[in-house]
Amino acid sequence: MTVSVAIVGSGPAAFYTAQALAEQMGDTVAIDIIERFPSPYGLIRFGVAPDHQTTKKVSRAFEKTAQLPQVRFFGNVEIGRDLNLDELRGLYDAVVLAVGAPFDRPIGVPGENKKGVYGSAAFVGWYNGHPDFQDLKPNLQTKAVAVVGNGNVAVDIARVLVKTPEEMADADLTDQAAAVIHAAPITDVYMIGRRGPIEAKFTNVELREMGKLDICAPIVDAAQLPETIGNLDDDRERRLKERNLATLKEFVGMASQTKPRRIHFVFYASPVEILGGDAVEGIKLERTRVVGGRAEGTGEFFTIPCGVVIPAVGYRSVAVDGAPFDAKAAVVPSQDGRVAPGVYAVGWIKRGPTGVIATNRPDGETAAEHIKADIAKGAKPGRIAFQTLLEDREVRIVTFADWKKIEAAEIARAKTPSPRRKFTSVAEMLGALG
Ligand code: NAP
Repeated sequence: MTVSVAIVGSGPAAFYTAQALAEQMGDTVAIDIIERFPSPYGLIRFGVAPDHQTTKKVSRAFEKTAQLPQVRFFGNVEIGRDLNLDELRGLYDAVVLAVGAPFDRPIGVPGENKKGVYGSAAFVGWYNGHPDFQDLKPNLQTKAVAVVGNGNVAVDIARVLVKTPEEMADADLTDQAAAVIHAAPITDVYMIGRRGPIEAKFTNVELREMGKLDICAPIVDAAQLPETIGNLDDDRERRLKERNLATLKEFVGMASQTKPRRIHFVFYASPVEILGGDAVEGIKLERTRVVGGRAEGTGEFFTIPCGVVIPAVGYRSVAVDGAPFDAKAAVVPSQDGRVAPGVYAVGWIKRGPTGVIATNRPDGETAAEHIKADIAKGAKPGRIAFQTLLEDREVRIVTFADWKKIEAAEIARAKTPSPRRKFTSVAEMLGALG
């Protein structure tokens, strides 16, 4: 009998797993991808920056996977709401958890609950049309914003905040977000790194974009740049760091006076407190030095006045009811993806929130290898029983063909050259299906 596999989630880790299962197991496997939204692709839709459309093109390969004969997409079905994990395990030979890390890690300093503090997961979700974050309604009526963190998410946010409407014309920023961001009087964005330029996590392509913005100049303090990157054994790391240092040195030489907006790279500064009354008025930082790779406080403090603080210090997974969870590491503990008999984990819920889209490919391949090795033949009812259960519970299943209709409606209502005008609620997406 066919081996039945349910994959929970439909982001990159889920699709790489489906693809690997189809490749490794051919027609001996039936793969159901279960997604709580009517739209597939997880972080490709809700995380990748709206002006990085080339990155989103990976969804074309995922689309081919979704249309393989072994694969079905079950959108608008939520594990924990429509059925629980135990029920799913009863129906499928294997369940793969690919639910990612959708929430914010806090910085952990006083003042983080003030009005005007928006975590990166919520903020990025808001401007990318994630239905859960549309109520965020950030108040961006401020001249200065502090983005805490030196990763690619921090860079994405800083860039989206300072680009002009013309620069965003071919992006898929939502209407609501465009209205708020483009009406904001922001002139200065501070990107705060608790360590130095060599330790920063952003990659070079993303960093270089900061030097090519129409009305915004990058500001780098030459005194914070080392002469060289020092000794690094890893070749790839070394090349990246050398390129970043060279780019930052170029930024020092760029005249800022001619541009009305600025992105300030503030290195060696660790957040101590978010200042203000009810609402943010500034961020207090401690000057650091890097010792043995770690940021160490120097006892010297300074303040950056700002009306908004966006912590972009990493994402966080939450427990899936019915699966084990390591609260400290915020992952589902596993032996290289094996969680329990018949349960597997891939992507950020397995490894934590690091790496690029393609980092998920080996995860999917490993999970497929495990499933092939662990389950010789199918013993559980799989798809038909799942579908019957959902029908009994009156769940409105969104098929992949349905999703293509929703997508066509988003494309049809877009204003050229934007690729799509996103629906930002489940009701709107379902509405497009009539
Ligand atoms: P990240 O790369 O892990 O960066 C997190 C940043 O937050 C680091 O600079 C970290 O500093 C800092 N940080 C953590 N805790 C802090 C604290 N308490 N106080 C101050 N700073 C703190 O995470 P991310 O930016 O969220 O990105 C997640 C993953 O998605 C990354 O692998 C990223 O490359 C990927 N991504 C890729 C792209 C792209 O390819 N264009 C775009 C977006 C995201 P330390 O280094 O000192 O810990």
